[in-house]
Amino acid sequence: MAYPSPYKVGMSSLGYQWIASLLSDEGFAVERVFLPDDDRPPRTEESGTPLGRFPLIAFSLAYELELAGLIQLLQRAGIPPRRADRGPGHPKILLGGPLTFSNPLPATPFVDAMLCGEAEDTVSDAVGGFYDHGHLGRVGELAGGWVPEMEERLPAVARAGDRRLPARARLWSPDAELSNMFLIEGERGCHRACTFCVMRRGEPGSGMRLVTPETVLGWVPDDARKVGLVGAAISDHPQLAALLQALVDSGREVGVSSLRADRIALKPELSRLLRLGGYQTLTVASDAASQRLRRTLQKGTTEAHLLACAEAAREHRFRLLKVYMMVGLPDEGPEDIEELISFTGKLAAIHPVALGIAPFVPKRNTPMWHNRYAGIREVEATLKKLQRGLRGTRAELRPTSARWAWVEAALATGGAAAGEAVAQAVAAGGAYTDWRKALLAAGAREDAAGERPGDAKHVAAG
Ligand code: SF4
Repeated sequence: MAYPSPYKVGMSSLGYQWIASLLSDEGFAVERVFLPDDDRPPRTEESGTPLGRFPLIAFSLAYELELAGLIQLLQRAGIPPRRADRGPGHPKILLGGPLTFSNPLPATPFVDAMLCGEAEDTVSDAVGGFYDHGHLGRVGELAGGWVPEMEERLPAVARAGDRRLPARARLWSPDAELSNMFLIEGERGCHRACTFCVMRRGEPGSGMRLVTPETVLGWVPDDARKVGLVGAAISDHPQLAALLQALVDSGREVGVSSLRADRIALKPELSRLLRLGGYQTLTVASDAASQRLRRTLQKGTTEAHLLACAEAAREHRFRLLKVYMMVGLPDEGPEDIEELISFTGKLAAIHPVALGIAPFVPKRNTPMWHNRYAGIREVEATLKKLQRGLRGTRAELRPTSARWAWVEAALATGGAAAGEAVAQAVAAGGAYTDWRKALLAAGAREDAAGERPGDAKHVAAG
């Protein structure tokens, strides 16, 4: 089981750890490998075996830019990254992970087969099939299974049965990004319909499945000092407060993977319990610059909710209120940014605020898939305007790069050619200019990610 980022990132991925432990339970000799921090050839954590000696390597890809890590891991192991350059003596490559819910097409030149969506019910058949037949050709017969060489269209994203829920970690590491935290699912999926989100209800593999507090508590090991509750819409869990209370009462610190501002506003006990559970920063999402745009995203978050979050952060002495949002949304205008500046001023008057700003990137399997990236210059101009507008307030900007968001958009909307461009960028050194040159040559548009080969052929079913 390979993770295309360093150890501390991979060990914070519940899905990666969960699938590794399921395969182990089925009797497969699973070893883990991560992208080394230095130039050393990759070796597994368990036995120190060089990666190139394994017959089958299963990768988990969380997001678009990690494709570079997959290519690097294979290269450093002496395995030709492109499937076309590999022979019968080389390992077979299986791909899964969160990116398969959206657009895994750029990975097609490098992998032999994919499991798209939730893989609990299929991964042991995929791996067992490899040992029975010596190839991954039968993965296409499984739910969410795809063998790009044999089938043109991406399959529908698979949804696993409830039998094995909740996903939970077997190992927790002091060196992980979520250090020493035992990760467990409190729910899976989402019942809401935000138009930009891959997890929204109504999309393939979607819907909310709750895990009872008793079940979660039953899985928490005695020696786990911190418990991380994972779920796309965990703050919508109707018994979240009771679960947090039980964890805090047992002397544990807590973490939750996402918090909706309306839930924090309507259930004040959540912020109190999070603070008792060791939280320093109260983090919520507003997702768009103005109320008008939030409505078009069907986000359901209002100014009143966000103001209540700032009040809660002050009341419970959080160090900071962090608000995530996107800029560069379709139909965003100067008046929306003006509103964001003046509203952030109101929040900051109540409590110090950090705006975590990410440019909007359209994702496959969402209603906003056919929109375009706003453009690097446009996003940078918006960020500058925000910076100027918030000067002198208790609000700070924490933006992600407009350039790398353009790269992400080119991959999120691209196909195999975009994946080939990643290999070229990695070979050229991996600087932003290398990515840009390779992606433009592959057909990405300068002002937006324009290449959409998926529109013609690779239409996700469902
Ligand atoms: S953004 Fe959050 S609330 Fe909205 S659909 Fe996605 S997971 Fe659900």
